[in-house]
Amino acid sequence: MTTVGIPQALLYYQYYPMWKTFFQHLGAQVVTSPPTTRGTVTSGSARVVAETCLPVKVFCGHVISLVGKCDYVFVPSIRSIERDAYNCSKFLGLPDVVKAVVPECPPLLDPDIDISKEGKRGFYLAIYALARRFTWNPLKVKEAAEAAWQCHMRFQSQTREEGITLSCALSRMEDGMPSDEEGVNPSSATIALIGHPYVLYDEYINHRFLQRLRQLGAQVVTPEMAQIQELDRGVTRLIGKPYWTYEDEVTGAGGHYLDSQVDGVIAIIAFGCGPDSVMIDVVKRYAQRVSKPFMAITIDEHTAEAGLVTRLEAFMDMLRRRQGWEGKA
Ligand code: SF4
Repeated sequence: MTTVGIPQALLYYQYYPMWKTFFQHLGAQVVTSPPTTRGTVTSGSARVVAETCLPVKVFCGHVISLVGKCDYVFVPSIRSIERDAYNCSKFLGLPDVVKAVVPECPPLLDPDIDISKEGKRGFYLAIYALARRFTWNPLKVKEAAEAAWQCHMRFQSQTREEGITLSCALSRMEDGMPSDEEGVNPSSATIALIGHPYVLYDEYINHRFLQRLRQLGAQVVTPEMAQIQELDRGVTRLIGKPYWTYEDEVTGAGGHYLDSQVDGVIAIIAFGCGPDSVMIDVVKRYAQRVSKPFMAITIDEHTAEAGLVTRLEAFMDMLRRRQGWEGKA
């Protein structure tokens, strides 16, 4: 049976259930790289120039860990998934980066997805071209694509309807694990954590930031828990029209939560990320305008756990003093 490797990095957190369903329906076996470790970051960082953003370094490390474990590695080039909103250049050039810096990598499955330019027809053609490695039967491809889409819809609705994180929804789908959100103190402060899923949910690179927030007694809400319309309104309020595909994860979530009842907003961004530096500045200015506590944390491969924890504790202390909130210190 053909084995497809999926790196546990970048868009894995949003799309893994859909990708896995698609390949399995085509008769392939799917393997993922293990969670990020120091070795993943070190091996990925050693292959690219220092200025590359941390998530791409991590991605390269995950690809390296799949070498020898699969027949193909799935590395799509996703330029756009809606009209007039684009991914950053790192996503566009990801297959080329991987081929250049991980020459020992198995052949790539690297469809070009550009809905803004090619429309839905171009998208379907890219899917059929990808599926040809597994079958020439168009009905089988259609069935696989429909099953994958249904799976994606179920996955997305879990986070929005039940208010759980993407990582929790992933664990549920994979292992049937119970929600990790249970047991939150209802009287504690509510903190919105905004940023890209591959930064918020990679526990190695963010030093288990989300869990630490919960341990300090905070209830945590994240971008994917908000409704699509709420995120869209957040984007419209702050910048009018989205330019980046992931504008809703940062600008949209920031705009939405800053106008909601949350006690504070924390953004985690990756060092070396151009789009984030612009989007976070917009959110920061809005936070000042509405006088809501806001903190942005930039992480890279050298970020020390102690410094991160100190900043988090200082933020929570500030909230306590500001609101007289008595959480667990
Ligand atoms: S959006 Fe930023 S963090 Fe994500 S891949 Fe692009 S440069 Fe890297």
